[in-house]
Amino acid sequence: MRTPALTRRLRPFTSTIFAEITELARSTGSVNLGQGFPDTDGPPGMLRRAEHAIGEGVNQYPPGAGEPELRAAIGAQRRADYGIEHDPGSEILVTVGATEAISASMLALVEPDEEVVLIEPYYDAYPVAVAMAGGAHRSVPLRAERGRFRLDTAALRAAVGPRTRAVVLNSPHNPTGTVFTADELAAIAEICRENDLLAITDEVYEHLLFDGRAHTPLATLPGMAERTLSISSAGKSFSVTGWKIGWVCGPAELVSAVRAAKQFTTFVGGAPFQPAVAHALNEERPWLEELRSGLQRKRDRLTSGLRRAGFDVLPSEGTYFVCADVRPLGYSDGAEFCRALPERIGVAAIPPQVLCDDPEPMRHLARFAFCKRDEVIDEAVERLLELG
Ligand SMILES: *Cc1c(COP(=O)(O)O)cnc(C)c1O
Repeated sequence: MRTPALTRRLRPFTSTIFAEITELARSTGSVNLGQGFPDTDGPPGMLRRAEHAIGEGVNQYPPGAGEPELRAAIGAQRRADYGIEHDPGSEILVTVGATEAISASMLALVEPDEEVVLIEPYYDAYPVAVAMAGGAHRSVPLRAERGRFRLDTAALRAAVGPRTRAVVLNSPHNPTGTVFTADELAAIAEICRENDLLAITDEVYEHLLFDGRAHTPLATLPGMAERTLSISSAGKSFSVTGWKIGWVCGPAELVSAVRAAKQFTTFVGGAPFQPAVAHALNEERPWLEELRSGLQRKRDRLTSGLRRAGFDVLPSEGTYFVCADVRPLGYSDGAEFCRALPERIGVAAIPPQVLCDDPEPMRHLARFAFCKRDEVIDEAVERLLELG
């Protein structure tokens, strides 16, 4: 047998610190603030709707584009929240989570000699999706400067070349908790228009913004609707990360290309969950508002605990995550810090530098998740106070 078995294009992505830290967290009985999923359930009405759907026999292949009821609900949500009109028949495609929407978009739209620009730190699935399509990625950094994370727009401009096909934007941003500013969005849109690039936007945290901020989809900027694929998912909005119901919206030609790729990877998925997510989008806005305000309180709870423990904390404007500077505690490297933490005090966190090609701008940081019950956050804080 050929060794190693894994293809060259996937070999760069095998060693992950996530697995290492998850194992450390388990073996030490740590409070795990590394993992970005909630420890409470989604809206009861949505959960019952899924149970009923299974009982009522919604268990066979749904239509290739997704249940019409769900596509209509996605369209209605985007119209109500952003004033964007999509034809549910041709401009909305239901996918197996946002992850499949991203990988199918790359498979459908990126030629093997083309490049995709990522903003780093990036969600770990992006470079792998580009590589599976045979493309190459270039990355441009967010930098922690003057108390927040800022996009280096000059670096973004410089990363675009003749073979660039697309830019990926994730706002609100995992792992930094940053919401891109109007100026940053305008710069990204301008670079896309000037260079005739596609934009692929990962908006899975579109409802989880804090302090009165509102989400602005890149597709709403001038000249962007025709070149943007907007991706979202039920997982983060309704606390069902295991359901893997996502979607991609955009111009019919692009969505139909993504559907061509998706058709032969999974075809369809999650039949009984689709009507449940439609129900959630249509009826569970009050629950979602509670989730958002609850997460904002949890962010404040963890942020103040981290500050008491001696960290400098960067502001989290959205998502489930907050990043803390480990240098005031005598560490210079976030990865070293995150590897030591479970054994030292029984808390697990993730170093965002592992989500970068160039770890330097993120070297001093650790990412903590606050999508956990208050008593879990409090226990973590109590243990973190032992560091002082
Ligand atoms: C969780 C997450 C995803 C994955 O979404 P699924 O719907 O579970 O596939 C994608 N992007 C970001 C930034 C995430 O945090």
